Amino acid sequence: METVVIALGGNAFLQKGQKGTVEEQWNNVVRAMKQIADIIECGYRVVLTHGNGPQVGNILVWMESAKERIPPLTMDIAGAMTQGWLGYMIQQALRNELRRRGLNKVVVSIVNQVLVDKNDPAFQNPTKYVGPYYTEEEAKKIAKEKGWTMKPDPRGGWRRVVPSPDPKDNLEIDAIRALVEAGFIVVASGGGGIPVINEDGEIKGVEAVIDKDLAGEILASKLGADYFIILTDVEGAMINFGKPNQKMLRKITVSEAEKYYKEGHFKPGSMGPKVLACIRFIKHGGKKAAIGHLYRALDTLEEKTGTIIVPD
Ligand code: ADP
Ligand code: MG
Repeated sequence: METVVIALGGNAFLQKGQKGTVEEQWNNVVRAMKQIADIIECGYRVVLTHGNGPQVGNILVWMESAKERIPPLTMDIAGAMTQGWLGYMIQQALRNELRRRGLNKVVVSIVNQVLVDKNDPAFQNPTKYVGPYYTEEEAKKIAKEKGWTMKPDPRGGWRRVVPSPDPKDNLEIDAIRALVEAGFIVVASGGGGIPVINEDGEIKGVEAVIDKDLAGEILASKLGADYFIILTDVEGAMINFGKPNQKMLRKITVSEAEKYYKEGHFKPGSMGPKVLACIRFIKHGGKKAAIGHLYRALDTLEEKTGTIIVPD
């Protein structure tokens, strides 16, 4: 049986223009899980991962607005909370969808820690905006009080910025593998995993975020998956993105992908890490990586659409 690791983007939970009501979230997840069930029905062994940007942002806003009554927690714990929140929604929606199709499969999510290097240069240069927006005055006060890095966000207002270090290892990978081999559908590495560092043999959480596509690659490669599929809100990776000569890449080799990556066609923080994750997956021995639209999941896996990256 072939194993496919599938990374779900933000649109699996929240679509552009939506407020994010719980009804909207359930509708989005149920719709996304029909796509995943199509792949499972075709006989693939599926492992899921997902993003958490807007949700972890919401938790930070909740913490900030309730801070007089309830002591705020830390970002690693906020990440763990989103793994439970989104993992639960996936578990229920996918289980129900599979049962409707006569498949009795159990879906299970893992509270999953991902190791980063405490000397990663990202810790010296935080780049990811998170949490609530503040005035400059408030931001400078918070920076002093908490030692946070605060910067003006190009979208307006001041915000906290945190590092986005490169994932190195998935700490629960042996448990994930055992569950996958036992036939469970596993949700792991949610939100890029809970970032932890190793300090003299002890692991501890850090105030950072990990890119979910790069962490998904670690999951896929360490599992020895055949395929790694990244589902998002565009049909594939484009060169000359946003220009009149924009062109979607269809099937390319890993060397071609690397060439386009180095030429700077893919934006950092969105398409960039997706293409990089695909390159790494193929270099680590994967058979095929793909980037495609959430609502064309099976077609992307079967190369009918999307950007397909294969070994040279
Ligand atoms: P996700 O939540 O799925 O990770 P992202 O917003 O991080 O979604 O990444 C998808 C977005 O990447 C697209 O909506 C598109 O605007 C952007 N993007 C940046 N560069 C490119 C490119 N070269 N080709 C296609 N999309 C790109
Ligand atoms: Mg993204």
